[in-house]
Order: sequence, then C-alpha cells, then structure tokens
Amino acid sequence: MAKQPLSAAEITELVNGLNRLARNLWWTWDQEAQELYQELSPRSWQNLYHNAVAILHEVSEYELRVRLQEQDFADHVRQVLRDFDDYLNEKDTWAAKHAPQLAERPVAYFSAEFGFHETLPIAAGGLGILAGDHAKSASDLGLGFVGISLFYREGYFQQAFDANNWQTEYYTHLNPKNLPVEPVLNSKGEPLVCSVDIGMNQVFFQAWRVNVGRVPVFLLDANRPENEQHYRDLTQRVYGGDSTTRIMQEVLLGMGGVRLLRALGIQPSLFHMNEGHAAFLTLELIRERMAAGKPFAKAVAETKTECFFTTHTPVEAGHDRFSPELMDYALHRFRVHTTVPFEDLMALGRVKPDDKHEPFCMTVLALKLSRAANGVSELHGRVSRHMWHSLYPNVPVEKVPIGHVTNGIHLLGWMKGPVRRFWRRKLTEQPQVASEPVPVGDSTRFWRVRAARDWDREMSSPEFWQRMTDPEFISDEEIWALRYKLRRELLEFTRRRLLLQHQRVTHGDFIAFDHLLNNDALTIGFARRFATYKRAPLIFQQMENIVRLTRDQAQPVQFIFAGKAHPRDDDGKRYIQHIIHLSQYSDLKGHLVFIENYDVHIARQMVSGCDVWLNNPRRPLEASGTSGMKAGCHGCLNLSILDGWWREGYDGENGFAIGEDAHPESVEEQDRLDSANLYKALTEEVIPCFFNRDAQGIPRQWIQKVRHAMATLVPQFNTERMVREYTEKYYLKK
Ligand SMILES: *Cc1c(COP(=O)(O)O)cnc(C)c1O
Repeated sequence: MAKQPLSAAEITELVNGLNRLARNLWWTWDQEAQELYQELSPRSWQNLYHNAVAILHEVSEYELRVRLQEQDFADHVRQVLRDFDDYLNEKDTWAAKHAPQLAERPVAYFSAEFGFHETLPIAAGGLGILAGDHAKSASDLGLGFVGISLFYREGYFQQAFDANNWQTEYYTHLNPKNLPVEPVLNSKGEPLVCSVDIGMNQVFFQAWRVNVGRVPVFLLDANRPENEQHYRDLTQRVYGGDSTTRIMQEVLLGMGGVRLLRALGIQPSLFHMNEGHAAFLTLELIRERMAAGKPFAKAVAETKTECFFTTHTPVEAGHDRFSPELMDYALHRFRVHTTVPFEDLMALGRVKPDDKHEPFCMTVLALKLSRAANGVSELHGRVSRHMWHSLYPNVPVEKVPIGHVTNGIHLLGWMKGPVRRFWRRKLTEQPQVASEPVPVGDSTRFWRVRAARDWDREMSSPEFWQRMTDPEFISDEEIWALRYKLRRELLEFTRRRLLLQHQRVTHGDFIAFDHLLNNDALTIGFARRFATYKRAPLIFQQMENIVRLTRDQAQPVQFIFAGKAHPRDDDGKRYIQHIIHLSQYSDLKGHLVFIENYDVHIARQMVSGCDVWLNNPRRPLEASGTSGMKAGCHGCLNLSILDGWWREGYDGENGFAIGEDAHPESVEEQDRLDSANLYKALTEEVIPCFFNRDAQGIPRQWIQKVRHAMATLVPQFNTERMVREYTEKYYLKK
C-alpha cells in the first residue's frame, strides 16, 4: 500500500534536522548518522573527506527535499534524529548522579589543540586527539564541561614530498562555512568580540562554537578586521611561527579563553590546563582578583584553588620556555595594569625564583598555580615527580604533588563502522540483552531496536568485552573472518592511497598497485608523529633479517608506516625519508609502504586493519601513547616497549612486550637492546603464533590473545573511564 507523501512541513523539519545534526560532532561517532550523509552523495562523501556540512552545501535543498520523499531514506533520517535528540536530552547520565554540581559550574578545559575528526584538522598529534576524546566522553557522561582552544584557519600542515622524499608542508584554508562550527554571537546577532592585551596592543578576537554532543568547545579566532595583519595571523596555524608567535598564541588561548567564558556568563568551578600551553589563564585569574582589590599574594593563593594541570611529556622540548625579554614584551600591558613587579611575575615560571637568567617555563607556572596535577600513566607520573622535584625541595620525591590518570580513547569514535555493526549484530542475537527487533516504519532495512545509545552503552561496558572470551558468544571463525575483512579494507585503502601518491613520483618503475601487499600476510603497522624518540626506523636496524621475514613464502610479513614530522624537525624528516627510500629502492619494496599525510582517518584504517601495532619509543619518553588503545576493539594486537600505557595494559597474554619493565641508562645501549628484543619478540612469539594454524586454517592461539586483549584492554583504556577518574579524583575535590 502506497504511503502518503510527506507534507512540506514534515520535510522542512527533516531538512532542518539534517542541518542541525551536521553541526554537532555527535554524527562522527554514530554510524547511522554518517551513512545518512554518505547516502546523499557517496562520491562527495569521499571527495569532501566525510564532511557532513559540506555535503549539505553540495546537495541542493531542492534535491534534498525530493530525496526525502523516498520512504526508506526519510525513515532513516527520522530515526537518527530521534536518537540524536534522545542523546542530547538524556537526564539519567553518569554525571547527573556523580557530579551534579558541575552542571551549573562546569570544568573549563583549555587545550592548544583538539582532534575531533578529519574534517577539522586543528590537532598536531596525540595531545589534541586526547583532548577531543576527553570532550566526547565528557559529553557521553553528561558532565558539565566546556572546552577552549584556537581556531587555526590553516590548521595543521598537510604533508607532501619532494623528489628526494623529503617532507614538505603545505596548508589549506579552512572555511568555517564548510565546517561543523558556528559563530558565537552577541545579543544583536553579530559576532561576539572580546580582546586581550598582547605586548603594547589590544588584540581582538571572536569565537567559533563546536558542538561535541552535549558539550561546547569554543575556538578563539584573532582574524578580526580591528587587528593589524600580524595579529590577525596569530591563529593561522597550529604551533606556527617562532617563539614570539608562540607566546602570543598562548596569551590569547589562556587569557582570551577566560575572557570569553566571562563574556558568555560561564563561571567554571575548575580550570583544567591540558599541557602548559594554556597556563597563562592563571595570570588572567590573578588579574581579575587584583582588579577586585586583592593583593598579588592573595590573588595567587586563591587562583591556585581553582586550577588543575595535566602534564603530557617528559621530553624537554615539550615544555615551553620563554626568555625574560620575550615575557617582558608580551606581557607589557598586563604588568602595567596589574602593577605586579616583573621579577615577581617571572618567579611564577621559574624553578629558582631568584635566578634572573632562568627563562619562564609554562609547565612551572602551571604547577605552581594548580591545586593538583597529574601525568598520563603510572610511569609518567613517577617520571614527572622526579622531573619537577626541585620545585618542591621540602618534600621527598614520592610526595611531589603530581599523580596520574592513564589516558584513554573515545571508543565509539574510534571503532570502525563495520566493526560497530558487527558487535551490534552480536548483541541483537543475544536474547538476554536485546528486546525483540522492531522494524522501523515499513522498512526492514533498519533493524534498530531500542535507541542507538542503548547499544552504544552496552558496547562500552566491561561486561560486553568480558564476553569476548566466551566462544558461545563469538566463535573463533567469526573473529578470524572479521580480521580478514578489516585487513582487506586497510590494504585496499592503502593501494588507493599509494596510487594517488605515485602520481607525483616520476622516477622508479611502476608497481601494479592492486597486487601490491599481500592479503594473507601478517601486517604490522606503525603510525604516529615522527618525533625521534619514537624511533620509527628501529626495526630496520636488522635490515637483512627483516627482508628475510618479508620474503618467507609460508609466513610472510609486511609493514605499513605513516606519520608526520614537525616542520622544523629535520631528524624526524630524515627518518621518514629513510623509510620511504627503503620502500622504493630496497629489497623491502612491495612489503613496506608509507602512506602520506597521516591523520585521523588513516589512523582509523590502520589500527583496525593491521594485525600488529608496533610501538618502540625510547623508554620512558612515551608518557602514555594512545594509538595502541585504538587497536583493541578491532582485534589488532600490540607489540610494544613497556612504556606509557602498555606497561599497565600488558598482562603477558594480551599482546606482546618488547624487552623488560626497565631500561638501561645509556641511550645507545637502549637502542641496541630494544632493536634486538624487537626482533626476538617478532620471530619467537608474534610470527609463530600468527601462523600456527589448525586443520581448519585458524590460528587458535592468536585468536585467544585477541579475545583476551579485547576483554582486558578495551574496558580499561578508554576516555569514559579516564574522564570519570578525573572527575572523582580531581574535578570534584576541593
Ligand atoms: C591516536 C593518534 C595519535 C597518537 O598516537 P600515539 O601512539 O600516542 O603517538 C596521533 N595522531 C593521530 C592522527 C592519532 O589518531
């Protein structure tokens, strides 16, 4: 029986809903929502790099209205919008029970970068990804939370290579009209404009709001006509420019962020500084108090009660330090207004307050002005207590007030679509979990049962992952089939990317891309920033041995690499050059590939499709690391140095360790030892286990490890656990 066509009003409602949905990043962690936009224009979905807002500009409103007369599509839209509204309006959240006081007075989370999705490339690496995942889980938990960052209109750089495989950088312009951001407006409907003092000047800025589910993140933008050009360019690029640009960006982030919150009438109960970049916010809080008549010392003491700090790295270069001259210049007007003597100000950022030559360290400022602080894994907590012991000379090192909360990932944001669908189907098959499937409308295509969030919640529960050890719930054959599907998806993605990359290469012989890489090979992935301490080329120290492994017809191994080096890091660029060179000219050709322009999308393909995720940092420099956590729910196993999170995650059975829970003092000795241990673990454990197949061709032992990894790692190393821990340990504590 034909249905009544939808009325114009009904269609308008759905069109508005699609527009509203595109401007809330919730759709990036809801599979069905993504499919809506993909279905509108599959080709644009690829070309526009999964950008829902841009798709809605691509498809005319007329077409959209016509398409909505297709019943399946309209049903799909309606169902997704219902789930979306249910999510936004849910009252019964974790935070409603455990942190209701934060609803009125939220946590303000400041971070110089946020990595949410490939369409908003304003993160340089793991720090930003973590901030994005923190915000998503804060939303899921219903936490009173607001994020502050900068709107970099050219984002982080795009990676390209010259004829010598040397990394070059280029930038693309981000157009807010095509992004999931909305301008923050004043009561007259114009952009809300605030200002901060930088050097001798007043610098104006506006803000863009990113809706991350239930929580807002505000991005400050100095590109205002009131400003001179060099101030307009302050928010051009992530960590762009020299230390002058850097300090000015940080003044804008820290002080500007507080001013924006005040202008919006938001009164945070706590200011969380994600890394030292944001620590100037403390100076703005001090200024406010002094303007209210309080003396400097009292203003400092009070500010300390409302700030909290997370340090993210033991690597020296990761801690911003500014010379006294630069501080004098950048904070000139601040000093004039507050009348704080320069040396008193400098003392806040010095380990030795009286040392006139010591530069101003943002980490020191953050530590001195926080009521508590933490590192991002147990080992990193310990390393940080040693690193900053000199700030607390009167306490033993164990009593240095830096604790730890181990990082996590936002599970649903990282779980690949097919995997999520796979787990959902498993859940619907289980009568003890699901109610009866009820077809939506007349369509059986969407078998959604209860609201999507019920499945989603189920999927983030420890109980769900515990069931992975039960062969009744899921068989070895099903897991192996899933692994094959994911590996193939990665290899086909990689071949497409390599074909595109190859178009720029004018030398060398042609590889038949569809035959490149082996669908049955043990596929080892490595992708992250090419900071040298991460030692990307470590495995190739055993070049001849590795070549032999890749050539083994019975037990083939292959490697996929990706990653960006910081534009000014020539050592990192040399590492990349070396690896691309090996992939093109050595005996590893065809068994080693490098995917260019690493980003969130590539990360998702790699952590899901690889069999093994390799991580070999120079211990203890990887404070936590998070990419290995993204592997877990996809059945990819970690092979890693016992540093950061893996030191806590590894239990002997849920993946593979390189070396021991210790490391030699000498860097050379460490590199030599780790390289040998890496090869040892690979040849004595990983490869034999992967290729040990039974009569049905199934690697039972391997799958046993996959099950165990899912049960032990996924429920632990996620941002839901992490944000709860922050809340209970730090956000609520007075
Ligand atoms: C997860 C992720 C990172 C962080 O990876 P690490 O293992 O912590 O170095 C960096 N970049 C992107 C794009 C990511 O997705």
